Amino acid sequence: GKLPRPRMVVRSSAVSVAPILTHLQKQCATPLPVLRHVADAMAADMRAGLAVDGGSDLKMILSYVDTFPTGNEKGLFYALDLGGTNFRVLRVQLGGKDERVIATEFEQVTIPQELMFGTSEELFDFIACGLANFAKKEGGKFHLPSGRKREIGFTFSFPVKQTSIDSGILMKWTKGFAVSGTAGRDVVACLNEAMERQGLDMQVSALVNDTVGTLAGARYWDDDVMVAVILGTGTNACYVERTDVIPKLQGQMSSSGRTIISTEWGAFSNGLPLTEFDRDMDAASINPGEQIFEKTISGMYLGEIVRRVLLKMAEAGALFGEYVSERLSTPFILRTPDICAMHQDNSDHLDAVGAILYDVAGVKSDLSVRKTVVEVCDTIVKRGGRLAGAGIVGILQKMEEDSKDLIFGKRTVVAMDGGLYENYPQYRRYLKEAVTELLGLEMSKNVVIEHSKDGSGIGAALLAASNSKY
Ligand code: BGC
Ligand code: MG
Repeated sequence: GKLPRPRMVVRSSAVSVAPILTHLQKQCATPLPVLRHVADAMAADMRAGLAVDGGSDLKMILSYVDTFPTGNEKGLFYALDLGGTNFRVLRVQLGGKDERVIATEFEQVTIPQELMFGTSEELFDFIACGLANFAKKEGGKFHLPSGRKREIGFTFSFPVKQTSIDSGILMKWTKGFAVSGTAGRDVVACLNEAMERQGLDMQVSALVNDTVGTLAGARYWDDDVMVAVILGTGTNACYVERTDVIPKLQGQMSSSGRTIISTEWGAFSNGLPLTEFDRDMDAASINPGEQIFEKTISGMYLGEIVRRVLLKMAEAGALFGEYVSERLSTPFILRTPDICAMHQDNSDHLDAVGAILYDVAGVKSDLSVRKTVVEVCDTIVKRGGRLAGAGIVGILQKMEEDSKDLIFGKRTVVAMDGGLYENYPQYRRYLKEAVTELLGLEMSKNVVIEHSKDGSGIGAALLAASNSKY
């Protein structure tokens, strides 16, 4: 294609790019003391959020999930999953102890951009309509016992103040959603109304965060799962907590003595190594001042931070020559999958880097420019992965401090899901390195980070089963 019209001509007094890169690397550095500070602050914020509602950046949301799937669950269950990027419907036929998962089927669609800025009715009609179409195709191995309704586990991946296992109020949207009329409402009621408009007679039996679904799904196969983390468009972590160390429960213990807490760690902000690029991106976002950890480590934002750095290098240091392209000035044009693809290029001339820069940002580059671009990607991704690792250690540390069963003394599994973790090898490596640095080689051998792909769907269906109305 033809190069787009230049936006501005770089002034001849432009400084060189090298000092900008060096400064960036210095500001984004996450040496052990920084990681340690973040882990400690995460643990402290968790404690404050458990003490009273609103006591900390971390909401520490009670999930009302205090028993785990046992394996005995039987029957046909559905799951709905509204994430940051995709909407998914799933059905599963559970066969109890011996047969476990007999069959699953799912469909997935990308959430249309306009729905993210529309009305609550439009969004929930879309969900209910997708569900209705999917339910119509039920057959084969799937079978509903007579006299029962189809029950749904609803995974809703936004901060919800749960009021019971099957109801909860949306506190705010995240991940670029700005749907009007949902905040402050019970999202299950919103779904029920939309299902009624569709003439669909199904029953929500569990409302869960995606992290909680992932934990339940992973725990179905492995009793050592104690933590679940999503690193995708957005980020969050949940874990198994003892009810006797949750002051805000005011003595209401669960029968198991445990419950899952969704930390909403995306809102964490304490002591993060941030730059002018992070501050500018935050200020320009639809939720300024919010979700700072999420904006530093999650998939929605990493590409955008890199774009902002490259733009500065182009404007102040003539990185791409005399002109700055219009496209490079467009927010969110460079996506995390793009920087991931550039980061994987190990060809002699970094041809893939050159092609992506040309296609996405409309700029031409020589080898040394491409090397600089890869360095920028690496700097931002390294910071993100290492901070995510520190967050995980913070959670383990908090559990260990209160624990009678000694988290660090035995195998402890962290179930992971999300496209960023799944698709970005360097991010994964940086995350694991930080965990090992913080815990030491011996201790970190007990902490198993396991990819639990799409576990949240089955997990939500399992929770619908264990909270069945029948
Ligand atoms: C939401 C969380 C969710 C996470 C991962 C965040 O933006 O606030 O509720 O678990 O994204 O999807
Ligand atoms: Mg998801």
